[in-house]
Amino acid sequence: MTTITRFAPSPTGMLHIGGARTALFNYLFARRNHGQFLLRIEDTDKARSTQAAVDAILDGMDWLGLKPDQEPVFQSRQSDRHVACAMELIEKGAAFRCYVTSEELQHRRERGEAARASAKQEGLSESEKSARFKEAEELLAPFRSPYRDGGTPPSPDAPFTVRLRAPDQTDIVLQDQVQGTVKVAANEIDDLVLLRADGSPTYMLAVVVDDHDMGVTHVIRGDDHLRNTFRQIPIYQGMGWPVPSFSHVPMIHGDDGAKLSKRHGALSTTAYRDMGYLPEALNAYLLRLGWSHGDREIFTLDEAAEVFSLDAINKSPARLDLAKLNDVNAHFIRACDPERLLNLLRPWLVEAAGHDLSDDIYKKIALALPTMKDRGQTLPELAEAFRFLWTSNADNLNKKARKSLSGDKISTLAELREIIAIVPEWRDTALQHALESYCSSNELSFGQVGPPVRAALTGGLPAPDLAPVMEWLGRDETLTRIDFHLARAEMQGE
Ligand code: GLU
Repeated sequence: MTTITRFAPSPTGMLHIGGARTALFNYLFARRNHGQFLLRIEDTDKARSTQAAVDAILDGMDWLGLKPDQEPVFQSRQSDRHVACAMELIEKGAAFRCYVTSEELQHRRERGEAARASAKQEGLSESEKSARFKEAEELLAPFRSPYRDGGTPPSPDAPFTVRLRAPDQTDIVLQDQVQGTVKVAANEIDDLVLLRADGSPTYMLAVVVDDHDMGVTHVIRGDDHLRNTFRQIPIYQGMGWPVPSFSHVPMIHGDDGAKLSKRHGALSTTAYRDMGYLPEALNAYLLRLGWSHGDREIFTLDEAAEVFSLDAINKSPARLDLAKLNDVNAHFIRACDPERLLNLLRPWLVEAAGHDLSDDIYKKIALALPTMKDRGQTLPELAEAFRFLWTSNADNLNKKARKSLSGDKISTLAELREIIAIVPEWRDTALQHALESYCSSNELSFGQVGPPVRAALTGGLPAPDLAPVMEWLGRDETLTRIDFHLARAEMQGE
């Protein structure tokens, strides 16, 4: 049988990173088993579903490379089928028409709460107290409809809901692939509504019908849905359908151990793109957040698809750890193809510079990129590291750079300028050689010679070794930057 998994988000907001991880697990499990990964947009809640949220989900999945194997299914378009299944459940005796109105139910709940409150009053005898508690318990227990075994409608045209007849005696046992065996007693399950009084299907019905119709064999989702599963299994049983395999994955928590919320920082998947993370880094990070394979930390999607398994999903909630995400991102930046990395960097370079950069600067950045790519854990950090390539920072020297460009350091700079100017081949090895031979013939250490050149070239901005910096800047720009400081010193009478 072909393995079919699905991701079934409700389009009521962004693609949350918890949702992205669920999508990732479903995607990997399908690939591992040479099956199919499907997407279903659960848009039955018309008031809360928006096109913008659908777009955000598609955009986030596309960015992460989690491509479904078929066009998405929109749950709201299947409602005729949901209604037909509810009718079939009535015919099979697994569901029934219920004429209890929502007002009556509300009234029942209120009576239950009042009984519970009154049981706590002072001055009641023990037997009075327990009688009231018992009454409260009955009224607040999962609802079992008086119509579950037939009954006449209060009037011929009385509105009704369609309810599933909850299991009478048999407890529901789930062999969850992550949580193990989980059991819920039959009396904890209510006669759940399948069709509302206005004829619209409920989520509980829709999710089961759609999963069945889409041929889903494995449901992998957040453990916030574990309780729902016990209400969904009787629907499968009522229809005579096979029950899929379930895996309920523990939630992601913040670094303080509390459930993830806005105060833990960005929750939306694409917010990570907007902060300069690579999609492969977020995938690798989310994968390890709740799943493990030995102590290996870094996987590409292809590598993970070779080894992903449900039994290696952790049973306890995972904690979001941004420092670790940064490390993983740095790894993927280093591993990134230089041409792609440059393209990813472009908007960040423009943002750092505050203006467009010339082709000449991009050429210099491309030249420097292989050496420089370990200088940032995120794209904006890395873009910032290239600043010295588009500005000499001459008007913004820090104290150290100013000191390196004063007194007798200026004559060192002037002498070096002449030597550098005639280096035959403008490559870092030749430039390094020129600097070193200047040092040895003048009996100077590199620590005496390097700082004025560095200050002239980068104006105190962070940069790697001098020789490659000169190579990337090119002969003209290198000499122009040095000449600027020599002329300024002359004007100031240094
Ligand atoms: N639509 C549900 C949600 O977004 C998921 C349902 C499911 O995975 O079964 O939480």
